[in-house]
Amino acid sequence: MNLVGASRAELATLLHDLDPRPYRVAQVYQWLTRRLAGSLDEMTNLPKALRESLADRSVIRDPEALEVRRGGEGTAKFAFAYPDGAVVEAVAMPMEGHTTLCLSSQAGCAVGCVFCVTGILGAGRNLTGGEIFGQYRVIMRQEGLVGAPVNVVFMGMGEPLLNLPGITRAVELLAETVSPRRITVSTAGIVPGLAKLAALERRPKLAVSLNATTQEQRERLMPIAARWPLEDLLAALRAFPLERGRRITFEYVMLAGINDSLDDARRLPRLLRGIPCKVNLIPLNPDEQYLAGLAAPDEATISAFAGVLAAAHMNVTVRWSKGRDVAAACGQLRGQVIRERAAP
Ligand code: SAH
Ligand code: SF4
Repeated sequence: MNLVGASRAELATLLHDLDPRPYRVAQVYQWLTRRLAGSLDEMTNLPKALRESLADRSVIRDPEALEVRRGGEGTAKFAFAYPDGAVVEAVAMPMEGHTTLCLSSQAGCAVGCVFCVTGILGAGRNLTGGEIFGQYRVIMRQEGLVGAPVNVVFMGMGEPLLNLPGITRAVELLAETVSPRRITVSTAGIVPGLAKLAALERRPKLAVSLNATTQEQRERLMPIAARWPLEDLLAALRAFPLERGRRITFEYVMLAGINDSLDDARRLPRLLRGIPCKVNLIPLNPDEQYLAGLAAPDEATISAFAGVLAAAHMNVTVRWSKGRDVAAACGQLRGQVIRERAAP
């Protein structure tokens, strides 16, 4: 059994015949989830005999960091491999006062958005909660962040609401050290998943990738929109329970000549009326090979778009991409790693 990802209850079962006292179970759980121990030997407040018995029946296995690329502004982008060969990516971005970690929930994505390298490379398996949490553990240790304030966003590879078991466990493990207010789950709009997310005991914040202002346009960019139409999505979001002061973040990837018109900008506030929200405009992160023909609008267009939203009293920010030089967007490092491994 891999201890990384184990719940308290699973640890209690594992320790049942060795030392079932609740404080022992709590000690082991804390080593794994708070101190992020990489080996049983580090668990110095456990008796040596117990560590040895544990070693006979369990391992501590994190994903392997195949590669770390560092960009300007301190961004570190990791490519992680799992024992079955699945490769995902995760990013650490230093911000003011904290570091934001962007984690992956699946080793690919079946949703197939046309502007997303992960989507174009295709579906991949669900990661378990422990495999997701392993990304966090490795980055926190390698970047010297254990104990430091971090935000966690599920904006790496995959659609979190198509992997609810994995996400639920990962949030439970993260919540040992990261407040759910500092965890954001980003979804392409899997409507039935929203109610399940809302029902979590420790509910993370919600971000929704909108990316379009009409059903027709959204379907062209995000095939999933045919299955879960914009209208149903917005109705579900209006019903989504929000803690006091919380807002839903709408992400809007800006594509030149496709969804960046002033008409789009004017439609947005009408569409989102009644939902406490903020809009995050994300200029497309281009990729010559996978996203040929798609480009980010120029700065003037983006500013004009943002200006229309601001004039309609919307809370709007533009994500002038961090670490574009290390291929900051969704799935792009993995694309590069795959390309380089395939090349002789
Ligand atoms: N599947 C989830 C979470 C992962 S994608 C979702 O779609 O929300 C995280 C974010 O990256 C989404 O908002 C998506 O729209 C954005 N994204 C994908 N490809 C991008 C690209 N090439 N440039 C900029 N943002 C991109
Ligand atoms: Fe999947 Fe999100 Fe990429 Fe769409 S944007 S293909 S949902 S990872």
